[in-house]
Amino acid sequence: MPRISWERVIRTTVGLRPHRDSGFVLKAERLDDKTVIHDYGFGGAGMSLAWGCGAMAADMALEHNTRKAAVLGCGSPGLTAARQLQRRGFEVTIYAMSVPPDTTSNKSYAGFTPTTALVANERRTPAWDEQFRQAADLSYRQLQLLAGAPNWGVYWIDSYNATDDPIEPRPAAGAAAPGGREDDLLPQYMRPERTREVLGPGEHPFPTRYAVRTSSLAIEPSIYLDKLVGDFILFGGKIVVRKFDTPRDLMSLPEPIVVNCTGLGSKSLFNDEELVPIKGQLTFCIPQSELKYRAFGRLPTSAVAASISPRSDGIGVGNMMERGNWSLDPNLEVRQQNMDAAIQFFAAMRA
Ligand SMILES: Cc1cc2nc3c(=O)[nH]c(=O)nc-3n(C[C@H](O)[C@H](O)[C@H](O)COP(=O)(O)OP(=O)(O)OC[C@H]3O[C@@H](n4cnc5c(N)ncnc54)[C@H](O)[C@@H]3O)c2cc1C
Repeated sequence: MPRISWERVIRTTVGLRPHRDSGFVLKAERLDDKTVIHDYGFGGAGMSLAWGCGAMAADMALEHNTRKAAVLGCGSPGLTAARQLQRRGFEVTIYAMSVPPDTTSNKSYAGFTPTTALVANERRTPAWDEQFRQAADLSYRQLQLLAGAPNWGVYWIDSYNATDDPIEPRPAAGAAAPGGREDDLLPQYMRPERTREVLGPGEHPFPTRYAVRTSSLAIEPSIYLDKLVGDFILFGGKIVVRKFDTPRDLMSLPEPIVVNCTGLGSKSLFNDEELVPIKGQLTFCIPQSELKYRAFGRLPTSAVAASISPRSDGIGVGNMMERGNWSLDPNLEVRQQNMDAAIQFFAAMRA
């Protein structure tokens, strides 16, 4: 049984998803004598798409003669791009003003959710769709190779959507996600719904008639990002803590190729006006090692859906999506609603 109570709350974390209505940017441009390869703007999908976009960015770098590259940013996109460059024989230095555990990537819920808060359907182009499909496919395959491997924090997990109506889609935890979660972007083989099983009354412990079970890939950000940092260094990488204020600052770097994975930082650094934060927030309770599933559900009396996600660093409760909010302060009202919903819902479970 999930033990969700205020006494067991250990922290509330806030992160800002780097969203662009027209989707992530993956392209090379010339800046004086440097080639800058942009790889940022992943909204709520930066843990999911990073390996694939990193591979595509590294392939763009391979078109040049040099094998020395700088990566700006040390979150999931930056670290995976750096590893993809190393795998292709590059000598890589990461430059970032913050490193794990102090990145947005560390604040992630970190499911394999490649379409969440990613793109506005009306802004998609065929060329972007193609990049997305390639990135999602590469990432999905890479994460499967890491799932269950020692010290990666990548694994498969069952999710239960406890509901009285098994046809109804899963309630969103927090406000609806901008972008195309339910759209045609994701190929069938990547959709958790493919594994969907409906459990009837008596076949599950939740306080609803049905529970819909699906399986999906998940990541533990702190374990995963530490492992990426460790591997990057093991393969000869260097990390330099440094802030860049303007593209001019890049000219002082010795590397002729610069892969830009600065996320929201690109708004001021590269003047990308389209970038907007989508604030997210998770509250954690003390971990329970025996809890091996995610669960979502709503009691008829509750306006807010309850959700829990167990990890070794805590049980994540709730989530939120607030566009345009730059504040890193926890929203106490949202925390109260998420905790109240989870306490009521899981207290009503059958033992
Ligand atoms: C609550 C929450 C839940 C989420 N759930 C999921 C999920 O389930 N699945 C999923 O795939 N994604 C999820 N995400 C989204 C995911 O976390 C982000 O897409 C991803 O972390 C963004 O990475 P980033 O590289 O843009 O940011 P970061 O991880 O912060 O990395 C940016 C890096 O760039 C550096 N930088 C920025 N500007 C500069 C500068 N001017 N000079 C030097 N360095 C600079 C920073 O210091 C940092 O090192 C979630 C996010 C949140 C907040």
